[in-house]
Amino acid sequence: MTAAFRSFKRFYCELRAQDIKPDPHQSKYYKQGEWRPYSPLEPKGKIEWVLARLDDILNWGRKSSLWPMTFGLACCAVEMMHIAAPRYDMDRYGVVFRASPRQTEVIIVAGTVTNKMAVAFRKVYDQMPEPKWVISMGSCANGGGYYHYSYSVVRGCDRLVPVDIYVPGCPPTAEALMYGVLMLQRKIKRSRSLQMWFRKNYSKV
Ligand code: SF4
Repeated sequence: MTAAFRSFKRFYCELRAQDIKPDPHQSKYYKQGEWRPYSPLEPKGKIEWVLARLDDILNWGRKSSLWPMTFGLACCAVEMMHIAAPRYDMDRYGVVFRASPRQTEVIIVAGTVTNKMAVAFRKVYDQMPEPKWVISMGSCANGGGYYHYSYSVVRGCDRLVPVDIYVPGCPPTAEALMYGVLMLQRKIKRSRSLQMWFRKNYSKV
């Protein structure tokens, strides 16, 4: 057991070493088949190393079980339903739609947010447990879209809640929304909540 742990640690340190000295000409974007470690923050000391690994486990769990709130407001909702259907089958990514905000961690705003709906939207968002994320789907949710100058439409759902991912299009295709979900998974994978909490409260740096 100890030998296995040591060999894993050596293997991991080698990978980290590669990560610490990147090729200056290397692209910041992922290459096909490239592997990078989960936590982007370089841990200082053993405690931070342990917290970084705990962050890895937390992030892995969070990104692999993204349960979205069903929040279809207009035509974009049809494309949102599409990704839950067998053709795209988002269940394989752990994306399972739920009908209660208390069981969800991501809300996909699919459609036109009207002033009348704004209050209900914010209420639903507030009922979701932390940590929570928002995907804004389509031109209407991103900035009002065709109805930007309408008296009754909110010019972007980011006026009501903080948005993590914007999916452009009118309507965006199901593939575009799927890509948005994958981008959100990448964002979650590289978050470092425990490390930042430790640095904020206990680190002297
Ligand atoms: S972005 Fe286009 S498809 Fe989506 S809700 Fe607005 S008008 Fe409908």
